[in-house]
Amino acid sequence: MKTDSSRRNFLVAGLSLPVAGFANAPASQSSPTQAPRPASPGTAAVRYRTLGRTGLKVSTVGYGCMITSDSSVISRAVDLGITYFDTARGYQKGNNERMVGAALKGSRDKIVLSSKSEAKTAPDAVAELDTSLKELGTDHLDIWYMHSRDTVAAIPDELVAVWENAKQQGKIRHIGISTHKPNAIVDRVLAVGKFEVMLSTYSFAIGTANDPAYEKLTAAGVGLVAMKVMAPASRASGFSGVPGYRADRLDRVQKPGGPVAALKWVLRDQRFATTIPSMTDIDQLEMNFRAMSEPFSAADEKVLARIDEDVRPLYCRMCYQCTGQCPKGVPVPDTIRYLSYADFYGQFALGREHFLALPEEARAVRCRDCASCEVRCPNGVHVAERLVRAQDLFA
Ligand code: SF4
Ligand code: SF4
Repeated sequence: MKTDSSRRNFLVAGLSLPVAGFANAPASQSSPTQAPRPASPGTAAVRYRTLGRTGLKVSTVGYGCMITSDSSVISRAVDLGITYFDTARGYQKGNNERMVGAALKGSRDKIVLSSKSEAKTAPDAVAELDTSLKELGTDHLDIWYMHSRDTVAAIPDELVAVWENAKQQGKIRHIGISTHKPNAIVDRVLAVGKFEVMLSTYSFAIGTANDPAYEKLTAAGVGLVAMKVMAPASRASGFSGVPGYRADRLDRVQKPGGPVAALKWVLRDQRFATTIPSMTDIDQLEMNFRAMSEPFSAADEKVLARIDEDVRPLYCRMCYQCTGQCPKGVPVPDTIRYLSYADFYGQFALGREHFLALPEEARAVRCRDCASCEVRCPNGVHVAERLVRAQDLFA
């Protein structure tokens, strides 16, 4: 088990040294599969990569539409040359696909469009796909993800058959899977042999923890898409009132360059064809757009190292080493992740929605009632404090 200090050393090394798959050249000199396409703003240009064996060409900065409400930001992204757009049936209680479809009307043939289904049964999945197509105003998805599959049991043959049938019918072009636990499902994914894309977590804060899975998937030609690329350097944060939290310090570090530095950290890694940062306004869009053309610098590295240290007690690295440690059955990593939606993305409703979907027994536990916490986090997260905050906010 890594100690806090070994984690720190590992991370600093990870920030400064290229690892397997990282481009030795800065992003602006990488070898996209297509010539850079000039576009405003400024001298920024779109970079493209190929998404594994799908052969799809995607811009390295894609668009995670999950929390977007302003469709004009999505339309502007198309104008700039961003080509990958991601949504899901469940986002914004089913409303996100409708807005994304409206924003992309007239641009469908220029972009790669993905959606996802969390359905647990075949009939539900079939119905969800038809709804997604209707809401998005299209006759096919380029990628349809089996959404949020963190265990082997969540990938039953019955559902795999639905995705295969959808592909045969032309309703989807490629089969994807999304997860927070790639190491836990990679062998099942490869054994099934049908998945062509994996959407998974990757950021400076997570580091190389999921590399065993990413290496296997890359070798098998499965395309990789990175999510949660900016947390915990996101611009949105709501930490006022968190005990011991240096809000003043983090705000100073995050706002000037944290999100872009975090995005550039991921963009260096050629294993990932694209990324899906959330974007809610034009400023964010243009900032992320420019990141495609900017090298990851020593200054970026410094910013990220400082953020990493500042958020240590607060941000769960999703290593899942504490799974099952709570004797009262609190799903610790998931609960702290839901709190991160509020604290690091400014998405309180999303965090609460997930929390309220936990089993009743898990929601009923109050960590305040424990004299001490039995959960040990090797990454320095103040587990009990975070859980008390999650329960205070969401329960
Ligand atoms: S709380 Fe700590 S041990 Fe548990 S998943 Fe998060 S980083 Fe890993
Ligand atoms: S404080 Fe720790 S041991 Fe007690 S319920 Fe919460 S997570 Fe479990």
